[in-house]
Amino acid sequence: MDGRALAARIRAGLKGEIAEFGEVRLATVLVGDDPASHTYIRLKHKAAEEVGIDAIDKRLPGDTSEEELLEVVGELNDDDSVDGVLVQTPLPPQIEEAHVMRALDPMKDVDGLHPFNGGQLFFGRPTLVGATPVGVMRLLEEYKIRVAGARAVVVGRSLIVGRPMSMLLLHGNATVTICHSQTQDLARHTLDADILVAAVGQLALITEDMVKVGAAVIDVGMNRTDEGLFGDVDPGVADVAAFMTPVPGGVGPMTIACLLENALRAARYRRGALAFPSI
Ligand code: NAP
Repeated sequence: MDGRALAARIRAGLKGEIAEFGEVRLATVLVGDDPASHTYIRLKHKAAEEVGIDAIDKRLPGDTSEEELLEVVGELNDDDSVDGVLVQTPLPPQIEEAHVMRALDPMKDVDGLHPFNGGQLFFGRPTLVGATPVGVMRLLEEYKIRVAGARAVVVGRSLIVGRPMSMLLLHGNATVTICHSQTQDLARHTLDADILVAAVGQLALITEDMVKVGAAVIDVGMNRTDEGLFGDVDPGVADVAAFMTPVPGGVGPMTIACLLENALRAARYRRGALAFPSI
């Protein structure tokens, strides 16, 4: 499944939509110097620029306190020229991520991490939903993989990927199983999956013997090694899966394209072009 090609098409479409809509401004906040986070922020800014989104790059030192970060978030919330705010995770240990997500203006929350947006998704009335799970759904749609009635297994239950992924699959009428670090006999679950999403961050966790013949396998994992970037799915799985996303070139570019879509969506909410539910 070619995420790079689909993402390029989404970005091309967005470019036209943004040109028509007017200015869209996305602010990213990066705390500390995690090298992977630096790469993601650079890629997000490059893609934003390409589609005509004005992106502000806020960088704070690794010893920033929670209070200081909350102040920056508050300023971006209050800045009427900013449509979307993204606080790159992971955050340093002195900062509680949940406090930061709760402090975001829900209408600017392009990662869908504020409890209001999480709740809207839970209730089946999605507002802003995390770009990675949205990107996975777009890939399934693109490759005409039937979600309704399918058995979907999501490995990983993080707030940014696993949980919203499970909800979107459920809203698509799949029968969903969520696995995590305490799951006993992971293979028993994964072998049942018509759609298997791996979002763990463990190199080659999913091997050929854990996948049903003909399954669609989505590899969200990003594991950096000396030999390069690899997913959570062993390449041997390609021998049994009917569809599989590569790493790199699968979910990664889709995440970025869908993040930019979320920035435009946030701008539409803010200018009243789309109705945002009252809180
Ligand atoms: P995370 O917050 O660390 O969550 C990992 C999840 O995996 C947790 O729910 C954990 O279970 C579960 N887990 C850990 N070991 C397991 C095992 N042996 N068997 C089953 N489940 C296990 O990570 P995340 O933010 O969701 O990210 C997951 C991966 O996706 C990472 O590699 C990340 O870099 C990548 N990612 C990629 C993109 C993209 O655009 N491609 C976007 C976001 C993230 P517990 O809850 O029990 O701890």
